[in-house]
Amino acid sequence: MVAYNCKKCPGYCCSYPVITLTKRDVKRLAKGHELTVDEARKKFTREAHGYKRVMKRKKDDIYGKICRFFDTDKRRCTTYDSRPAVCRDFPGDGRCGYYDFLKFERNAQEDKTYIALTDHSED
Ligand code: SF4
Ligand code: SF4
Repeated sequence: MVAYNCKKCPGYCCSYPVITLTKRDVKRLAKGHELTVDEARKKFTREAHGYKRVMKRKKDDIYGKICRFFDTDKRRCTTYDSRPAVCRDFPGDGRCGYYDFLKFERNAQEDKTYIALTDHSED
């Protein structure tokens, strides 16, 4: 039983600064976008200190920055079928901490549109 609803969330997990990518992830993205692995690596990924490959990001009005594949109007992933393993696994155990927090605050503030913001300004 899943205790969160991504359709009611503006996509917080996609705003994580580090979306790690394995070779297999890059290969899957390449296939999904009809590119070579090299092309996909250049277009979609960047190197980040401490990590080999991470997803490139873009500007987002809500969280500051978000995954380059995120549709910032519809608030959803545009590469769902070829998304990386880390996105497939998240949040993992049937609960999402951010969603729990969002739900609590929306009830407490009696505001169904409330969004909890994060500060990734150091990224
Ligand atoms: S932060 Fe949680 S509720 Fe929001 S999109 Fe991600 S998994 Fe879904
Ligand atoms: S690939 Fe899709 S699910 Fe993964 S972070 Fe990017 S937009 Fe979110």
